[in-house]
Amino acid sequence: MTNESEPGHSESDLLKMLLDVRDIPCPVCGYNLRAITSTNCPECGAKLDLRVGSTDLKLGPWLAALLVVGLPLGFLVGAALIGLAVGIADNNLEDLTIAGGLLIPVIIMAGILAMLIRRRRSIWCWPRWRQLLLPLLLLITSVVITVVVLGVIGMML
Ligand SMILES: [Zn+2]
Repeated sequence: MTNESEPGHSESDLLKMLLDVRDIPCPVCGYNLRAITSTNCPECGAKLDLRVGSTDLKLGPWLAALLVVGLPLGFLVGAALIGLAVGIADNNLEDLTIAGGLLIPVIIMAGILAMLIRRRRSIWCWPRWRQLLLPLLLLITSVVITVVVLGVIGMML
């Protein structure tokens, strides 16, 4: 919360106070913002604001978890759509059954992906070893689901 009515304590005043005493590069162009007089970068014009960051926020394992679930999910959705299109075009019940059967792993993987996104702040607070274990376990889960799906499709063909 900012208190714009209190002189010297608005967000832009606090930003200018910080930049009066520190060499901080513009996040867009890298220009040194020390002692600037406005809340825009004088070099590139980017609007600047004051934020709190954390060096503890390491998104690598969480992004890896999104990737190991998202990529197979995309593959399964693509396979289901192709099966649906071919099944409709050829009026082939087998292709339509396969496409319908792919909905089960698609729903499971989409649910995992939604959970990863919805509970991201909780996951970011986990201990490091647990954060690193998450993408590994999800990779194994994704591989197992994909292999089972491909195996079932192979038995049906
Ligand atoms: Zn700039």
